[in-house]
Amino acid sequence: MTVSIRSFTKRGPGIVFIVSAPSGAGKTTLTRKVLSNCPDMSLSVSCTTRAPRAGEIPGKDYHFVSEAVFKRMLAAGEFAEWAEVHGKLYGTPRRLLERQLRRGRDVLLDIDVQGARQIKQHFLSAVSIFVLPPSLDELRRRLAARGTDARKTIEQRWRNARHEIQEIQGYDYFILNRDVKEAVRRLAAIIAAERLKVCRYIPKQK
Ligand code: 5GP
Repeated sequence: MTVSIRSFTKRGPGIVFIVSAPSGAGKTTLTRKVLSNCPDMSLSVSCTTRAPRAGEIPGKDYHFVSEAVFKRMLAAGEFAEWAEVHGKLYGTPRRLLERQLRRGRDVLLDIDVQGARQIKQHFLSAVSIFVLPPSLDELRRRLAARGTDARKTIEQRWRNARHEIQEIQGYDYFILNRDVKEAVRRLAAIIAAERLKVCRYIPKQK
């Protein structure tokens, strides 16, 4: 195979970027800020059986579905991955994800640690990033300050966070989210570097 400068002008399939974090680590703010500066990347909109929070827009933040609909979609193989998180079901719609990747578009998945594991198995070149809060105390404070969840839910999310953090070893990168601006810079830097890898351009030798 001959490598020419032209080989570096057309990239292969899109890249899957997985961003996971314990609830309250600031992942949503971080990913939304990076996406707003990244017109050539899509956010995968998940299906969930949890109720919408105030201000969430169906179809933009999530596809809110009943448990019956979710289970029907699951049985029909419509999810690239799925998981039960904090007692509710969440899944990544497969068809749109695969179509975008085929067209060379990068897709960001905001999913939990169980989903990340499944995606890594199917999309071998997926890039995974774990967002850490500055501390567990700060995480609890942020969860309470958010005011969107009931006290019982906050406790459950905080307890789950301690387990989720143990999964960080399976990830490629971490971002300690002490300062949002710095965290945004770091996520953007990871995306930029991954996009410049030679292997994203040059087809593998058979
Ligand atoms: P929240 O209810 O706070 O929006 O999300 C709760 C958790 O579910 C977060 O960790 C979020 O990343 C995760 N999540 C959202 N969508 C999906 C999905 O499609 N699949 C999986 N596995 N997790 C998801």
